[in-house]
Amino acid sequence: MELESLRDLIRDVPDFPSKGIIFRDLTTMLKNGEALRVMSKELAALYRDKGITKVVGIESRGFIGGSILAYELGAGFVPARKPGKLPSVTIKKAYAKEYGVDTIELHSDAITSEDVVVIHDDLLATGGTMQACYELVKSMNPKRVYINFIVELTALNGRDTLPQDCEVTSLLKY
Ligand code: 5GP
Repeated sequence: MELESLRDLIRDVPDFPSKGIIFRDLTTMLKNGEALRVMSKELAALYRDKGITKVVGIESRGFIGGSILAYELGAGFVPARKPGKLPSVTIKKAYAKEYGVDTIELHSDAITSEDVVVIHDDLLATGGTMQACYELVKSMNPKRVYINFIVELTALNGRDTLPQDCEVTSLLKY
């Protein structure tokens, strides 16, 4: 199976979660074993020789690809979570959503200055979620930070909101 075939397995759901939004539903791709393996290998190939020590996955859809990527690279996995979910000391960042404000949290000891980090989420839309997570990760002074998505919605220009000195990759652009 080719990388581009994954596109055919991603389902468009109109009017979810609200009217006028077309939701790209990756579950129809993830439930296909061959597709899941292609996705995993393609993600890992992007970061194989970059010395990644930690993969940060953004709750909750970013936990899937993020865990796989960490496992494939022999790196550790760090969950970036919604507020109040992490049990120990956290750092947090609020960010604007389409309606209202959301907050993302990381354990304050999750990353050190020795780490080379890739932050992973399933999808880039406006970029607000990733931007907030990136700032938290950067505040822990890792050696280097990369950003990765499975799907990038290019029409929303989310990439432009992300730090220009950070390498951003996505497997599939829409
Ligand atoms: P952003 O902050 O870039 O506007 O939104 C990205 C976040 O919202 C990601 O965490 C992603 O999981 C979720 N998201 C927004 N739109 C979609 C979509 O169409 N499909 C999926 N799977 N997730 C979406």
